[in-house]
Amino acid sequence: MHIELTQVKKNYPGGVVAVAGIDLAVPHGQFLAVTGASGSGKTTLLHLMGGLARPSGGDVRIDGTDLNTLNDRELTLFRRSHIGVVFQAFNLLPTLTAEENILLPILAGHAGLPQGKLTSALNALLERLGLQARRRHYPDTLSGGEQQRVAIARALLLDYATDSHDGLLLADEPTGNLDSENSRNICRLLRELCTERRHTMVVVTHESTVADWTDRVITLKDGLLLSDHRATPKEN
Ligand code: ADP
Ligand code: MG
Repeated sequence: MHIELTQVKKNYPGGVVAVAGIDLAVPHGQFLAVTGASGSGKTTLLHLMGGLARPSGGDVRIDGTDLNTLNDRELTLFRRSHIGVVFQAFNLLPTLTAEENILLPILAGHAGLPQGKLTSALNALLERLGLQARRRHYPDTLSGGEQQRVAIARALLLDYATDSHDGLLLADEPTGNLDSENSRNICRLLRELCTERRHTMVVVTHESTVADWTDRVITLKDGLLLSDHRATPKEN
């Protein structure tokens, strides 16, 4: 999916300017890293891109749809059917197994999908992410890397079930809680998904090693775009 931000701003009560006016176009299939110091506005920008927060000014277009024109319900539906989000803290439900966590958002919002499609998408993802043996485990018995892979599988299930090749995946510090080996595995995985399935990916990170895997790196400072560099991604 193609994202276009025009003079996007986000203020919080108390005079906090989290995003101060950003113009940015992310073409379909690009793997973009968003870097910057803590408090520079990375998470806020990611949420604006995914329709998880509404801008205080400017507009966000995804494949031409201006998110400002959607009411809350339409925005939720748009997000559920087009955008996968991986939150910083995994957000897995502790009382559900790995596979139940992966299926949950789909069962909540897409009851119309045939069961067979869901099952084959679930199996393909568990296989792809090396989680087959862990599918019936609860989050507290999974390692950090495994929990992160469950969160990624959850964000990708709809794309797999509908065989979409134009998804949008937003991830907030997906390697923030991982050791360097698990971190590299997650980066490699996101890179492969981007290349194989032509996903558009936006990954917030403060680790420069993550940026090595991406096509482009932008840096924020005080809610503004400080730099914008094309990169040559790693292959392995
Ligand atoms: P980053 O992800 O780069 O650390 P954030 O987007 O989380 O930055 O935050 C940008 C600024 O907005 C910070 O000053 C932060 O304290 C402030 N901020 C973020 N979320 C809120 C909120 N819900 N209410 C008030 N201020 C917030
Ligand atoms: Mg953040």
